[in-house]
Amino acid sequence: MVLGPIHIAIDGYSSTGKSTLAKALAKELGYLYIDSGAMYRAVTWYLIQHHIAIDQIEEVLDDIRVDFDQLQRICLNGEVVEKEIRQMEVSEKVSEVAKVAAVRKKLVEQQQGFNQSVVMDGRDIGTVVFPSAQLKLFMTASPEVRVQRRYKELQQQLSSITLEQVRANLQMRDYEDEHREVDPLKMASDAVVLDNSNLSQEEQLQWVLRLLQEKLNITV
Ligand code: C5P
Repeated sequence: MVLGPIHIAIDGYSSTGKSTLAKALAKELGYLYIDSGAMYRAVTWYLIQHHIAIDQIEEVLDDIRVDFDQLQRICLNGEVVEKEIRQMEVSEKVSEVAKVAAVRKKLVEQQQGFNQSVVMDGRDIGTVVFPSAQLKLFMTASPEVRVQRRYKELQQQLSSITLEQVRANLQMRDYEDEHREVDPLKMASDAVVLDNSNLSQEEQLQWVLRLLQEKLNITV
């Protein structure tokens, strides 16, 4: 029997399908879903729009309000920016922005404030945001599977994108995320690894639901 809000932390490399699984799981369980990467992307989009250099972030941080609307869409200062934050321009800059300690402090505090059962995906959820999460997953998939998935997704918005550009961006973000000084991407010692290279979305969902039943006796 688990009392109080349940925290499910899903971390892992870029484009391993964290958000897809987290969203489906939250829906199944009736929990809140938070895409923490979208929050870092929204801050990055603000900087791009206002032509603010990374070393000036701290001066404008109080002017940046990131939250989610009723439909769980990411909002920047009250405006839905779902589409804008997925642009390549944002993907290229976001890991630099996510290195800044003041940015992480602001967003981590906000993430920790969601006072209800939540499925949250990101890079530091099981290690920093919710170190006591009742269930921690670390997702991975073969580099080529990840590149192909991301390429397909991006091609729908930007037909000129090349496989090479996608591969370079994933490699760069993984490297930056693993090697930054503040809250780098690493697997929590009590996380369960999910390699989904050869699993369908439904198979992944069923796998986690079984895990939840075994570990926490939670059934849907
Ligand atoms: O999850 P997504 O790929 O959209 O995240 C974009 C970027 O935001 C990551 O590459 C990483 O640099 C940063 N991020 C982070 N910590 C999180 C979530 C995302 O540093 N919890």
